[in-house]
Amino acid sequence: MKYCLHMRIDGLLWSDDTALRLLFERDPRELRIELAEKKAAGEVFIPSAGCEGFNPVTGCPGHSHHNTK
Ligand SMILES: [Zn+2]
Repeated sequence: MKYCLHMRIDGLLWSDDTALRLLFERDPRELRIELAEKKAAGEVFIPSAGCEGFNPVTGCPGHSHHNTK
């Protein structure tokens, strides 16, 4: 099994605006509002690209070798 690395919403909320802008190429103020809403909804992780079956609370479900690139 292989697991993807996911960014934690908590960690992102602690990051400064410059870092958020670089990571998401978006207005950090808007992003913070979205992240806070996700956190309030009980979500913990931000999905990474190409993670099938991603769960916002538990993160990557794990992938067996045949479906990873
Ligand atoms: Zn994954």
